[in-house]
Amino acid sequence: MSNLIKLSANHPTVAEIDLEAFNNNVKLLKQHANRSMLLAVVKTNAYGHGIVPISQEAVAAGADRLGVTTVEEGALLRENGIKKPIHILSSIAPRQAVDIVAYDLIPSISSLALAKAVSDAAVNQGKIHPVHLKIDTGLHRFGIDPATAGYFCEACYELPGLYWEGVYTHFPNADEGDWKTTEQQFSLFMNTVARLSDNGFHFPIHHVAGSTITLERPDMHLDMVRPGISLFGYTPAVRQEKMIALQPVMSLQSELIQVRELPPNTPVGYGGSYVTKSYEKIAIVPIGHGDGYKRSLVNKGKMLVGGRRVKIVGSISLDQTLIDVTNIPDASAGDEIILLGKQGNDEITARDIAGWMDSIVDEVVASLTERIRRVYVHGIG
Ligand SMILES: *Cc1c(COP(=O)(O)O)cnc(C)c1O
Repeated sequence: MSNLIKLSANHPTVAEIDLEAFNNNVKLLKQHANRSMLLAVVKTNAYGHGIVPISQEAVAAGADRLGVTTVEEGALLRENGIKKPIHILSSIAPRQAVDIVAYDLIPSISSLALAKAVSDAAVNQGKIHPVHLKIDTGLHRFGIDPATAGYFCEACYELPGLYWEGVYTHFPNADEGDWKTTEQQFSLFMNTVARLSDNGFHFPIHHVAGSTITLERPDMHLDMVRPGISLFGYTPAVRQEKMIALQPVMSLQSELIQVRELPPNTPVGYGGSYVTKSYEKIAIVPIGHGDGYKRSLVNKGKMLVGGRRVKIVGSISLDQTLIDVTNIPDASAGDEIILLGKQGNDEITARDIAGWMDSIVDEVVASLTERIRRVYVHGIG
């Protein structure tokens, strides 16, 4: 072990990743998928959980395929021995086609330039490469307009280096439970695919389902489901929590570095945004917005010390956060702090933190930077 790895093990702030909880979540979602394939979405460093160990565990738990958003993430998985099909679920530049083919990654095709570049790269490397057509049914991020999908296929379906293995779309309003819009978009997708098929353009694998559709709409599972955030223990919407017994995979802990007693009327932190009302004990926790612990948590967020909730006050700087431990009589340096997870009878969930940040669970976990050490526990493999 290099000395740097050894010394980083002394840093008090650690994200613990429970691989057994993750494994259980994958299996539960696979049950929900019934007979459809399960593509485990592990984009953005597996929503902050660490893409390589999470992907290995996903495969061990029965995931049929993996989904990422950058070519680098896909290549990293290949270099770590992952053999399952890997999809790139975002739009990429045509010049990345050579790497796509070399690392055997399945791109989402939404432009003629990319289709041609992938075909050329495949022909040059002596391969026929699998690709999926992306249809835009209303997210308006990327994808082919349904009205022009026929022309698009006429222009590139027969390119010699391509195997059109699948067609898919992604819904913008499902998490909000807007079923009217989502059903319209689902029909648009199904009608488009049927029309293409009538014209000789076939795509064996059809897929539209993120976590919400996987949980709530078996009628839209089609050939494959693509859950992401739910693999990590959180349903996209609160209304879905009772539908499945997911377990949070990440917890985040640190320790009190120093506790100081400040007199009344003392400004605390940059800009003095917080002023003590009485004698207050203010403590430092070694995490900051440079680690992805967001500044919007100031004066709103809570942490657990001695089994009780305490408030973040004054400021979150790049590397340090201040908390008010006045009500924890014996709080002292070295005490364990839970930022995310359980302590005593209380628990702070990523949903709580998302509420304080006015954001979603995805941002809470995926924002944590590589600087925070991940420790993997309960690995089965
Ligand atoms: C991120 C993503 C998913 C997973 O979405 P969740 O809501 O996290 O389950 C599925 N499909 C595509 C195309 C995505 O980009």
